[in-house]
Amino acid sequence: MRDIHNIVVLTGAGISAESGLATFRGPGGLWEGHRVEDVCTPEALAADPELVHRFYDDRRAALATVEPNAAHRALARLDAEWPGGLLIVTQNVDDLHERAGAKRLIHMHGELLSALCADCGDRGEWEGRLPPGTACGACDALSLRPDIVFFGEMPYRMDEIDAAIRNCDLFISIGTSGAVYPAAGFVQTARYVGAATLEMNLDPSLGSVYFEETRIGAAGTLVPAWVETLLQSTQSSPMSR
Ligand code: NAD
Ligand code: ZN
Repeated sequence: MRDIHNIVVLTGAGISAESGLATFRGPGGLWEGHRVEDVCTPEALAADPELVHRFYDDRRAALATVEPNAAHRALARLDAEWPGGLLIVTQNVDDLHERAGAKRLIHMHGELLSALCADCGDRGEWEGRLPPGTACGACDALSLRPDIVFFGEMPYRMDEIDAAIRNCDLFISIGTSGAVYPAAGFVQTARYVGAATLEMNLDPSLGSVYFEETRIGAAGTLVPAWVETLLQSTQSSPMSR
């Protein structure tokens, strides 16, 4: 039995699949019918800003049609009830974790409900459409773009994420294919510092070999059961798994 005080949870598109949001690596590696390189790179944004902005406008609009599922709600419960350290790091750009009530949360790949100024770097909440050429409220440049971390760009708050993983006793990865770095490498850091590692995914991910334990199934079923067991165990024997 290993004592568990600090937990890091990494989530990916799979945790939002049961809410009705498509994942990235469906058949053919498409996201809602688009090739990843056509909507997720700085080059794509420069070459066809109308297409890229419209793609994220559609994703932003789709948020209004979906709700958090049992897995988001279970993680929000864990956040509220876990007495030790906890950080939920999501690769998702939807807002379903926070709508479920999660507070200790980092969006490492940006957010649909945020706009970023390509000129001054200002970031702010955004709702509705964001056409190319929209003026930045901070510097007036016509440079607002979706606040999404594209391939080749630096994810947000990596120092905090790295520190949390280096300090964790349990690292758990939910609904991510393990194909996108640096997130795909988090498990190796967790192993290096001696943390327990657990993966929950619909199929074994590319990184499955690095996890001590892999549970195969739908996040909406697996995550609430895991959270229930973890919280029960802290009541019977404080802070151990
Ligand atoms: P991915 O699409 O590459 O992989 C999703 C993984 O989830 C797959 O391994 C799949 O087997 C698994 N999965 C599917 N349904 C599941 C379920 N019900 N329960 C558990 N697992 C399930 O996603 P990724 O690894 O997060 O990488 C994609 C990148 O694309 C992310 O970085 C993100 O920025 C972006 N993206 C975000 C969203 C979103 O915000 N909802 C959606 C699509 C893509
Ligand atoms: Zn600006």
